[in-house]
Amino acid sequence: MRKPEDTYRHKGLRKKLVDSIRDKGITDEKVLTAMMNIPRHFFLDTALQDIAYEDRAFPIAEGQTISQPYTVAYQTQLLQVKQYDKVLEIGTGSVYQATVLAEMGTQVFTIERQKKLYEKNKHFIFKSKYPNIKFFYGDGFEGLPTYAPFDKIIITAAAPHIPPKLLDQLKSGGKMVLPLDEGVYQRMLRITKNEDGSYEEEAFENFSFVPMLKGKS
Ligand code: SAH
Repeated sequence: MRKPEDTYRHKGLRKKLVDSIRDKGITDEKVLTAMMNIPRHFFLDTALQDIAYEDRAFPIAEGQTISQPYTVAYQTQLLQVKQYDKVLEIGTGSVYQATVLAEMGTQVFTIERQKKLYEKNKHFIFKSKYPNIKFFYGDGFEGLPTYAPFDKIIITAAAPHIPPKLLDQLKSGGKMVLPLDEGVYQRMLRITKNEDGSYEEEAFENFSFVPMLKGKS
């Protein structure tokens, strides 16, 4: 695919979007700067490029979505990432969330269960700019035992429960952010793992995600 342009108009729209997310209550400037640096319109089909800077979710391939920018900012802020953190992401989708994490200097391991999306992401447009994103095809419920433990884990699909294997793969003191399925909406949770393997749970706002599904497709 031909690389789209990032024009002054796009940058202006992006600044407006980032300002609106700040107005909605996101305070972590590192998250906002990362989002300011990433041309979101590169992550959407050409037909959707003009609306790429509206604060809403959009369809991507295979009936999946690119999360709403506010939601991406919200989850990323809750994750409290530091440079060089090892982060596991469940649900690669459009790669936008993974790119925000990579832009913040973390090492991202991202898993997608849909083969077609995984294959598409082999041609990820910023591959050379973000060698710190590693792509995996698999079931997020299983995590990536070979690369564990992780400092942070982020689930970007509605989880029916806290996946026990992911909890195992979290470092002690590590954090996992996930939308927990409670029907149409999900409650955003942040789990902090204690030294003894037990964990603390904090609950935040409600969101709406596509479901986290078992197995590969
Ligand atoms: N983080 C993505 C959001 C994509 S939507 C972005 O920034 O665009 C959620 C994604 O999770 C979908 O692509 C879906 O196929 C994927 N998914 C759902 N269940 C999964 C599972 N068990 N393992 C891995 N990926 C899963």
